[in-house]
Amino acid sequence: MDKKSSLHHMTYEEAREYFSGRDLVILPVGSVEQHGPANPLGTDMLIAEALAQEVASRSGVISLPVIPFGISFHHMGFPGTITVGEDSLGGYVLDVIRSLSRWGVKKVLIVNGHGGNLPTLQIVARRAMDELGVRVYVYQWWTSSSHILEELFEEDERGHASGAETSLNMHLHPELVRRDRLTDERPRGSFGGKVYRFVYTHEMSDSGVFGRQSSASPERGSVLFERLVEDLLRVVREMEEGKLEG
Ligand SMILES: [Zn+2]
Repeated sequence: MDKKSSLHHMTYEEAREYFSGRDLVILPVGSVEQHGPANPLGTDMLIAEALAQEVASRSGVISLPVIPFGISFHHMGFPGTITVGEDSLGGYVLDVIRSLSRWGVKKVLIVNGHGGNLPTLQIVARRAMDELGVRVYVYQWWTSSSHILEELFEEDERGHASGAETSLNMHLHPELVRRDRLTDERPRGSFGGKVYRFVYTHEMSDSGVFGRQSSASPERGSVLFERLVEDLLRVVREMEEGKLEG
């Protein structure tokens, strides 16, 4: 049998062997929230999970099971969206890291599938370092690998639920994408402005889509996925070698 690449598939003896030789794990974190009429609610957790699993199987660094729920208050205008509070998510992720630290883990690569989680994960990273001596790195495919995204997708294909995300879904889970419901919508305003204010996504987009979705394809998703995996493998390598800077 091939070496297992997921912690939850291992026995405790296999886990002991892994942790005796390595101090790094991958932890995918997602969300369950609206992604327009064509995409599944689990888009962010499914993409984070797929990236983490693929990189784990190619690198030999194990992945943990995905943490499915995230900070999605801004999407609560759409049915089926689930949100947890910042304290709940932050406390939960920190507890997971506290357990890992008991088994000798010193570095955690969080593959974050949802931008709304970032401020909370940054606090987790600070607390993990400060309280546990564990270094947390947060990778987000659309920001950490933005150069790849900009190369492959136009600006209006890079927003929430638009061409890039939809293409990844079509590649990873074609049966979950409702091609008959693909939608293009130019958002009214954006999340960033001169001064910050909290804004719900339904204030800016009737469909929940931010940009162009109709240009998505499984072929484009496959190219993007492979490029992201390669970039993430570089991150893992640099983390292992202690070369990765912030
Ligand atoms: Zn998303």
